[in-house]
Amino acid sequence: MKKGIHREMAFQVIQDDAATAPSEFLLYGVAKPEWKKDLPTKIRWLKDWMDMPDDSRHGSKTRNDHSYKLRRTGKRFSLEFGRGKGEQSTVVARLKYSARDLREWKVEEEYRVCALELAKSIHWVIDFSSPAHTVAGWPDKLHAKAESDFDRLWRELYKPAEIVFGRRQLVKDVYRWAKGFIESRYDRNLGLLEAYQRGESIRDAALQGTAREVIRDVAQNLADYLAYCDRTLSFDKTLGPLKRSLGIED
Ligand SMILES: [Zn+2]
Repeated sequence: MKKGIHREMAFQVIQDDAATAPSEFLLYGVAKPEWKKDLPTKIRWLKDWMDMPDDSRHGSKTRNDHSYKLRRTGKRFSLEFGRGKGEQSTVVARLKYSARDLREWKVEEEYRVCALELAKSIHWVIDFSSPAHTVAGWPDKLHAKAESDFDRLWRELYKPAEIVFGRRQLVKDVYRWAKGFIESRYDRNLGLLEAYQRGESIRDAALQGTAREVIRDVAQNLADYLAYCDRTLSFDKTLGPLKRSLGIED
């Protein structure tokens, strides 16, 4: 996905999440008080953090660590890796490491690092929810086209009332959760690839249902990830210690 989803939609979901209310925690985390930044600047910086993994050298080619590209032969899934050296990680592994780091920084009482790590890790949740990042065989051009289409249409497709926030017990193991989700959406995402190969797009009426489902999945996965992180971090309880660590009086 591109900037519209990674920045604007992700921030919208964070704001809509009244159940775990992560936005204050994240916004206090992005700027130290002595930098005297106003709210619009902090919001922009939070969006920068969420978009950061793509920010440098984001060509049309999706790097391997931003994807988990499956191919199915018979009943078996296999993972397709890029050809470059050092490209053997996946977005699911990245997410797992981030979740682990979050727990460790919390133990170390490095609350600001927790907020920044959380902001960065949101990027991986969106990448693993993206059809073009999780099915092998998307040509670069169609990958870019599909993502631009979602970027342009997400505001019409996103319905916060359909999202269940605060499911703190849903995700037990972040790696298995992400992998299970990707496999469960394989057929739909392959169908979307085939439609794009026929020259269709999510702007067509026939693909409206699929488009809405994809956006709902992105939002629901982000909501479930935030709830999972809230179980570790307790945004409301950690906000006080975070502010004190920054020298802010309650
Ligand atoms: Zn990415």
